Amino acid sequence: MGPIKGARGRSWRLWGRSWGLWGRALLLTSPIFAAKPTVGTGHFRRLLRFTAGFEDFARINAHHPRRILFPKLADNYLKHTCLYCFTKIDVLVEDTEWHSFFYCPCTARPRELFLQACPSFYSIFFPESPPPGMVVSMAKIFHEARFNRYLTNELARFVAGIHACRREVFTSLSKRGPLNPLRVALERVALPDQSD
Ligand SMILES: [Zn+2]
Repeated sequence: MGPIKGARGRSWRLWGRSWGLWGRALLLTSPIFAAKPTVGTGHFRRLLRFTAGFEDFARINAHHPRRILFPKLADNYLKHTCLYCFTKIDVLVEDTEWHSFFYCPCTARPRELFLQACPSFYSIFFPESPPPGMVVSMAKIFHEARFNRYLTNELARFVAGIHACRREVFTSLSKRGPLNPLRVALERVALPDQSD
């Protein structure tokens, strides 16, 4: 007998909950980074937060921390966009960990330093053919770091650099005044009324 109406969704929710519990239980016995890093605690903590999706990316928080100063960021067209690319090169691209890791011009310097330290990943950052996906490519690098202290250290430095670059940008974009580049960019675009 097939599932009665509504049971299918409930069973998927239960399955999802079981999967989440299983995943958390697995993390208790199998650490993400098995090789103890030698970078500072702050850098490693930043790496863990980045890996867990706890950092300040619009993919996750939809710019809620900035909406008081810039209510227009609640618009569906902008609430997940990378503010650096929006204000500096007038491009709308989703603000994600993998965008900052592989492409965002804002994080070019820490990316360059990471590739100098780990040149074997150059082909992943600059592939000759279209990659399977940025998330998959990033997961491959993080998976390789599991038992590799050197790579864990370099990833921690890279992620700390990403955080520092973005914080600097967010600080400059949060300044009050009519010449604020984010305010100027927001006034430039005409958006349909789709706020939530
Ligand atoms: Zn960007």
